[in-house]
Amino acid sequence: MSHQTRGVTTSAAERLIRDAGLRVTAPRVAVLDAVHAHPHADTDTLIRAVRSDLRVVSHQAVYDVLRVLTAAGLVRRIEPPGSVARYEARVGDNHHHLVCRSCGAVEDVDCAVGEAPCLTAADDRGYAIDEAEVVYRGLCPRCRGAADPAAHPAADLDPNGS
Ligand SMILES: [Zn+2]
Ligand SMILES: [Zn+2]
Repeated sequence: MSHQTRGVTTSAAERLIRDAGLRVTAPRVAVLDAVHAHPHADTDTLIRAVRSDLRVVSHQAVYDVLRVLTAAGLVRRIEPPGSVARYEARVGDNHHHLVCRSCGAVEDVDCAVGEAPCLTAADDRGYAIDEAEVVYRGLCPRCRGAADPAAHPAADLDPNGS
């Protein structure tokens, strides 16, 4: 439990944790950092990332921290059908996900129109709805290219990227 001073990212994570009313601990900071650095990562990926940072941390500790951060709203847990749970730090905007059926790649998709329109159910049956989950499934450009090389020779280029 040594006091550590690290980069800008770490202070941001510390501040987020403190602002959420949680005690700042090295595992919490490391896990939140890892979720920020690896959007949509599964638990194993996050454990590897945290270990490269903290060296010694148990699986259970990482699971516990993810549960605490998720409950505090600092981390969002998503469970694409057919995939293990994944975590991301982009919270509170009800964005959706593209999931590749072939390689499991996950990407963010903003709501199609305005702010969280999917929360307006056609018939809420009296529920107070606060979350809607939409998963778009299909093949990512890379996997489409592999399946049909003639289709999109430039499929690797991200039209919105760089
Ligand atoms: Zn794919
Ligand atoms: Zn996302």
